Amino acid sequence: MTTSRVEFGDVLSMVPKEMAALLESLGVPRFRAKQLFEWLWRHGAESYEAIQVWPKDLREKMTARHPFQRLELVQQQVAHDGTTKLLLQMKDGQRVETVLLPHHYGYSVCVSSQVGCAMGCKFCASGLKGRVRQLTAGEMADQVAFGNQVLRERGAKISRIDVMGIGEPLDNYANLIRFLELVHDPESLNISYRHITVSTSGLVPAMKQLADSGLPVTLAVSLHAPTDALRLKLMPVNRAYPLAKLMPMCRYYAETTGRRVTFEYLLLNDINDGEAEARQLAELVRGFPSHVNLIPWNPVDEHPFQPSPRDHVRRFQSIVQDYGISCTIRRELGQEIDAACGQLRLREEETVSP
Ligand code: SF4
Repeated sequence: MTTSRVEFGDVLSMVPKEMAALLESLGVPRFRAKQLFEWLWRHGAESYEAIQVWPKDLREKMTARHPFQRLELVQQQVAHDGTTKLLLQMKDGQRVETVLLPHHYGYSVCVSSQVGCAMGCKFCASGLKGRVRQLTAGEMADQVAFGNQVLRERGAKISRIDVMGIGEPLDNYANLIRFLELVHDPESLNISYRHITVSTSGLVPAMKQLADSGLPVTLAVSLHAPTDALRLKLMPVNRAYPLAKLMPMCRYYAETTGRRVTFEYLLLNDINDGEAEARQLAELVRGFPSHVNLIPWNPVDEHPFQPSPRDHVRRFQSIVQDYGISCTIRRELGQEIDAACGQLRLREEETVSP
């Protein structure tokens, strides 16, 4: 299944068979690979020294030849409802945001897939400074492992993953697929594919690749506007992939995977939250298994939009539902923290480099 090659140096991104090849190249029996994988992902080993079942000389050899570094906590914000936002640092000093969200079934984690983002959506804090670099599969999986470590103190753990944080996951496709394999493996974090949602702003060719991959993850398409004219004002990606290309691919995804497609729709006051837009949206997503998730907008200082008032949100939902389409309003979690995607990293950068 793994579609990309990984450098021998990047142990955190390796699947078990790659670890076995690495260890064999050092004259170490393959069964040590299973131990390495388990200790990294089940026990959260911070270094080879922590792998107690390994002989001392193997721990030293791996430390010298294939060092790895886990994510380090820079900042943590915890809201009253338990929503927890983590600012995590990688070995090159770049930072990502990860958010833990409480639900009735336990916690979900919102994972970032890139440092910054190239898509330039007009309402988003993450894209303000463009894409800095891709995250490796290990850096993505380590966000989940770090989240579990934080939640252990609360007697909880992560049971669902949303790849919806900073970045466009399908713009980092090979690392995304590797990440999905890593977190799904029963010897690591053991998250069912059906409990994983991957979001996209609408990169049509990569959506087809994901549909054809056979991985039964949920696809969440950030739609945010029901017409090309409006979507172009909010999302530059619509230039390359207008609705006439995007919507047939959503249908293809639903038909190929048997999974309904979720449409994310951010409500911006008097921009996209009128009765006409609600009807246009319903017409667009009807006819195949779909779900609409309305998102009350978290204000970002750098952008001029205003959140939709409550009555606009309710009216919008009720019109979409009248078409027989499943439509929910995302709960507003973590209101008192920098809850909009990318805000914590931006604030921190502003503090560090005024
Ligand atoms: S909304 Fe998502 S795709 Fe758009 S700029 Fe922000 S992180 Fe990128």
